[in-house]
Amino acid sequence: MTATSYVIPAPPQASLPVVGETSAYPVRRIWCVGRNYLEHIREMGNDERAPPFFFAKHADMLVADGASIPYPPLTKDLHHEVELVVAMKSGGLNIPAANALDHVYGYAVGIDLTRRDLQLASRKKERPWEIGKSFDYSAPCSAIQPAAKIGHPAKGRIWLTVNGKETQKGDLTELIWNVPEIIWQLSQQVKLAAGDIIMTGTPAGVSQLQPGDKIECGGDGIGTLKVNIGKPE
Ligand code: MN
Repeated sequence: MTATSYVIPAPPQASLPVVGETSAYPVRRIWCVGRNYLEHIREMGNDERAPPFFFAKHADMLVADGASIPYPPLTKDLHHEVELVVAMKSGGLNIPAANALDHVYGYAVGIDLTRRDLQLASRKKERPWEIGKSFDYSAPCSAIQPAAKIGHPAKGRIWLTVNGKETQKGDLTELIWNVPEIIWQLSQQVKLAAGDIIMTGTPAGVSQLQPGDKIECGGDGIGTLKVNIGKPE
């Protein structure tokens, strides 16, 4: 349904900056892959052979590079998860893996911030993950690098430091499901479209964050992202 006027102010369009462009990339949906690196699956004690599954965050939960993020409510165990982010320029249903990269606009590096205590409690009760994964400021993301400039990275380091100390490191070659396979799998579940971004799962080394922590992360050839954790709002 589209309208030309609204009874309350329309929410702003969420967006991400694009390296080398004055125009921004408009974000429609944020999808996340649940488990996609073996070492992280092992550190969380999960099934190594299970197919990928997806959950979502809302577009207005994005946080820009350089921001200070208020420590979120309800949790005592906020975790970082550094991830390769894929930004779609087109989509569809049932996209074959062989054509999937034709639908990718570019790549970024992001953090799937997680209220781990709440996520594990909901998992134990077989409840949805929203309370642990989908909250204000839960999706910091770097500027997007267009694939037209950097190609489609299938290897390269992905890393995260907290206060200068490396906690997460992995390589895109360790992705259990690669980017074309993720797009193929997710497009069986929902119709993907321009503006959809996908956080592709985190390598091992997730750890707890505290107010005052300075986080820096990056992916080789993709970019870097710096955010701070501040006091609760
Ligand atoms: Mn994640």
